Amino acid sequence: MKIEFDVRELLPLFEPLLAALRPRRRQRAQILMARTAYAEALAALSSREPEFAVFLLGPRGHPAVTHVVPDTTGEGTPASFRIGAPRLNEVLAKFAPLGLDGKGFWHTHPPDCERLSEGDLTYARRLLANPKNDAHEILMPVLSGGLVFPYVVRRDRPTRAVAAELVLF
Ligand SMILES: [Zn+2]
Repeated sequence: MKIEFDVRELLPLFEPLLAALRPRRRQRAQILMARTAYAEALAALSSREPEFAVFLLGPRGHPAVTHVVPDTTGEGTPASFRIGAPRLNEVLAKFAPLGLDGKGFWHTHPPDCERLSEGDLTYARRLLANPKNDAHEILMPVLSGGLVFPYVVRRDRPTRAVAAELVLF
């Protein structure tokens, strides 16, 4: 007996396998932020001259930002934002017992200066290079001229600011 079949009939069987092998499109970058954290950050950022920063914190193992802490060390200058390692470690140590870890920084720029500067990217790159940091991305939104420009910097391409979508909840 001879069994004949059309090879195309087999395709549906292989479709899940083919789908799994296909390179997946990268998920669009997102910054998930609680509305309470958003409001608190905006108030803090608007109250000081650029470049002023707030830490973005959220539950460990989840990308959401639920808490913000203004940087009060005053290391930022009009041309660059910088938070010293001691202050960063102090904040992280304070919130770790609550199950929160660092997600990134939101800082201000002068008006019409909506992109991350080379200095900002260098700062992010240095944080990602720290062996104690296992985050795959750092959230780096910018507030400039009253507008929010959400960026993330990813470990696999730390020289580039990726435009993200800001999702409030
Ligand atoms: Zn900056």
